[in-house]
Amino acid sequence: MSSDARKKTLVRKRVIDWYSEHGRDFPWRHTTDPYQILIAEMLLRRTTASAVSRVFNDFVTRFDTPERLARAHESTISRALASLGLQSLRAKQFKKTASIIMKEYNGEIPKSHENLQSLPGIGAYIASAVRNFAYGEATPLVDGNVIHFISKVFGIQFRGPTDKKAWEFVAKFGGSHETGLYWGIIDLVATICLKRNPRCPICPLSKVCEWYTNK
Ligand code: SF4
Repeated sequence: MSSDARKKTLVRKRVIDWYSEHGRDFPWRHTTDPYQILIAEMLLRRTTASAVSRVFNDFVTRFDTPERLARAHESTISRALASLGLQSLRAKQFKKTASIIMKEYNGEIPKSHENLQSLPGIGAYIASAVRNFAYGEATPLVDGNVIHFISKVFGIQFRGPTDKKAWEFVAKFGGSHETGLYWGIIDLVATICLKRNPRCPICPLSKVCEWYTNK
């Protein structure tokens, strides 16, 4: 195994081990229901996980199927999301997405990347998240947090979450399916590998992190 492959394996293991002990607990991490995962990922856009966790259970209880969401009035959906902000926009998008799922996919959340991405407001990240967390597929996940983490630990710069090279790198780094890897990265960036003042001395990657070891 090359030293590059060894480092990827080591980083993966440390993130997964750290996550199993210190990972944050959110309701959408206890389900593999594709509808609930899709709702969670749509809510998490431009919103903190702790804010979403305050409305998530009520939302998926009240609108428990795509059918119920498609039939709901936009104003009712909007009121349920008022504490998150952007509620009118979100309500419009939820209703439209649920209506398409009912009409074109018989109420089932699509599985393919292409079909997921054809839904309103669903980009590459959310499509990959649904495939990973709901359908158990080992598909790469790239967003600003993942890019931040990779650039620190491996010293590689990417243009942003749409950079093809970032997706190629994460496809190799991600390895076989492991939800703890991505949730671990999300939680590390939220609690330790902070963008302004990373808390390197308590980081599980401190001995292998390119940025910290070359400081
Ligand atoms: S050692 Fe520091 S910079 Fe590197 S991953 Fe950990 S917190 Fe981030």
